Amino acid sequence: MLEELGIKKETLDFIEKEEEKISDIFKIIDANCRLNSLKVLSAFHKHNVSEGFFNSTTGYGYNDLGRDNIEKIFAEVLEGEDALVRSQFISGTHALTVALFSYLRPNDILLSIAGLPYDTLHEVIGIVPNQSSLASFGVKYEQIDLVEDDFDYESIQNYLKNNKVKLIEIQRSKGYSTRKSITIDKVEKVIKMIREVDKNVIIMVDNCYCEFVETKTPLSVGADIIVGSLIKNLGGGIAPNGAYIAGKKELVDLAGERLTCPGEGREVGPTLGINKSILEGLFFAPGVVASSLKTAVLTSVCLEDLGYKVEPRYNDNRADIVQNIIFGKEADLVSYVQGIQAASPIDSNSVPLPWNMPGYEDKVIMASGSFTQGSSIELSADGPIRAPFIAYQQGGLTYEYGRLGVARAIENIKK
Ligand SMILES: *Cc1c(COP(=O)(O)O)cnc(C)c1O
Repeated sequence: MLEELGIKKETLDFIEKEEEKISDIFKIIDANCRLNSLKVLSAFHKHNVSEGFFNSTTGYGYNDLGRDNIEKIFAEVLEGEDALVRSQFISGTHALTVALFSYLRPNDILLSIAGLPYDTLHEVIGIVPNQSSLASFGVKYEQIDLVEDDFDYESIQNYLKNNKVKLIEIQRSKGYSTRKSITIDKVEKVIKMIREVDKNVIIMVDNCYCEFVETKTPLSVGADIIVGSLIKNLGGGIAPNGAYIAGKKELVDLAGERLTCPGEGREVGPTLGINKSILEGLFFAPGVVASSLKTAVLTSVCLEDLGYKVEPRYNDNRADIVQNIIFGKEADLVSYVQGIQAASPIDSNSVPLPWNMPGYEDKVIMASGSFTQGSSIELSADGPIRAPFIAYQQGGLTYEYGRLGVARAIENIKK
């Protein structure tokens, strides 16, 4: 079977050796997983999850008991006052867009303090022109870059002293950049500093890929609002789509008015039978995130020992589930990503090629042989075709499947 999958015994022997080096790191991941599981279970108990929550609404979706409780449970787990958790969010980008359009008005300033935001937000903000961007409504955008992978505290403070900023956006995960992802400790430190000069600015965190990696959430360290996707960490590989916006009640309500319509807000939104999947996904999420982290750590140690640059290194503190391998050569990036696809459960016989994707400026190669289209809590790897040819790998529903994927991808680059 291994031979058919294209994995040689010597590669598995190599992986087994590497695993000895990372066993202590796995213990830390397991400890976080235990805490996060406890958090989820207590939230289920506090809100008395019962079979009735799995019932479905259609049409307008009034009085959906399951939906309303799911939102309370997410709020609890994310340590916020409230949450909007909906399948009407098409993606993480859509939820971020809804949040931004909910809070920003003409002439307001949106300030990103973690450098250039994720590629798909460029047209949303108007960094790349679009007729429906925030810029087209007169919302101004400013950006302060990170310095040596940390916030530029002085520039942020100066900017806030001299300008009235409406919303600060902090993207924790690196997106398609080469910077490090931002840990909770750093988020906490920068928020403290921001509050010294501005009590009112809305602090919004793009929390994609970061949920359950650590045990604290941005809301517990002072963020006002956080946003993430359900086909990433919190969906646990089970939620079929959707996203969340969580935090201050007033801000969550405003997002509801924007997602549906002013006046109807959060009262509407049929769940069409997905409540059980969302709850089950959240229940699995701590374990699935732990498997993803273990797969990432294994990838990091193996690829480093094979001579590639990796980020993070296997023993670095992690803020998200993303693992970079800096291949330096287009051919190696393409082979590796094709290897991940070849060991996927779905479409393993498809061969991904670099292609143009909506919302992305460079050609991108993507392996995502996933149950849910585009799901990146399932083992997936992608990378824009631009130097230094970095693979962004994430996910792994179980460590065992993740390990097979990494083994197959290693075989591919060896060839
Ligand atoms: C994935 C991601 C997004 C966008 O999410 P989609 O669901 O792919 O639209 C936004 N920001 C970051 C940091 C992400 O990782």
